Amino acid sequence: MRRLTPGEALLAAGVFGVAIDLDRVRLARWPMSFGMVLGSLIFLPPGAPDDVAEAGARMRAWLLHELTHVWQFQTRPCWTLKSWAGVLLSGGYGPGLPGYRLAARWDWEELNLEQQARAVETGWLERDLAGTPFARGNP
Ligand SMILES: [Zn+2]
Repeated sequence: MRRLTPGEALLAAGVFGVAIDLDRVRLARWPMSFGMVLGSLIFLPPGAPDDVAEAGARMRAWLLHELTHVWQFQTRPCWTLKSWAGVLLSGGYGPGLPGYRLAARWDWEELNLEQQARAVETGWLERDLAGTPFARGNP
């Protein structure tokens, strides 16, 4: 188990500002091939680098996706669990499945937890976080 590296914390602060309590974030490896978040704990798949900030843009965007889940848990834990259950019960869990699809036009408040995380992930890659609560976070 580890904390965010200085580079990861800088990446996170650049997007989320003070919206996430980064001191509470912990990362731990687990044997599953996908990441998962529970509260402020991010489970890393075996291939994840020791410092995601040093990895390519897709991997850094992936960390921002997972940190969006941390933000959801830290700010709206009941909504997050309910939304999680909703995704599980409506078409399954995993990239490409219906619960992850993001329409071309969307309203942040109407997105489920995975769609919000994808909006941040893809928005950061495209340098456009418009419509997310973190729109000012493009340094
Ligand atoms: Zn996710």
